[in-house]
Amino acid sequence: MDAPREGRCACGSIRYRLTSDPLFVHCCHCLNCQRQTGSAFVVNLLIETDRLEVLTGAPQAVDVPRDDGSTQRIYRCPDCQVALFSEYGRPEVRFVRGGTLDDPRGVTPDVHIFTKSKVDWVALPDSAPAFDVYYDRHEFWPAASLERLEAALAS
Ligand SMILES: [Zn+2]
Ligand SMILES: [Zn+2]
Repeated sequence: MDAPREGRCACGSIRYRLTSDPLFVHCCHCLNCQRQTGSAFVVNLLIETDRLEVLTGAPQAVDVPRDDGSTQRIYRCPDCQVALFSEYGRPEVRFVRGGTLDDPRGVTPDVHIFTKSKVDWVALPDSAPAFDVYYDRHEFWPAASLERLEAALAS
């Protein structure tokens, strides 16, 4: 890793830093992500919660309904309400929204998921695998990331 990645909300109350590279990077085309972001997809950097350092401010957790009846916890700036990261069931792992990084171009998705609901005008690159729904992380994550995840879930 080069310099640690940092990001912020729109008003700047919340700043954060990733203290290492992410475990894996998702580009998700599901309808929940489209609705939550108001966009065509979301870029999520998966990283252990203890490697996501909040430098200023206190993100506010908001539980947002999903189409399957579950909720997803989204962490927002209490002032400008921009969504910075979220949680899918496991508090040990955060999904950091790539667009809030200081340099969003500094990350490239490792996989594209839920392409069954991808908008037609988004063309996917050949460089990353794409899945109608989801994938098996044991097949696609680097061994080091699998080990890191196991350690995080065991702690
Ligand atoms: Zn803000
Ligand atoms: Zn999604």
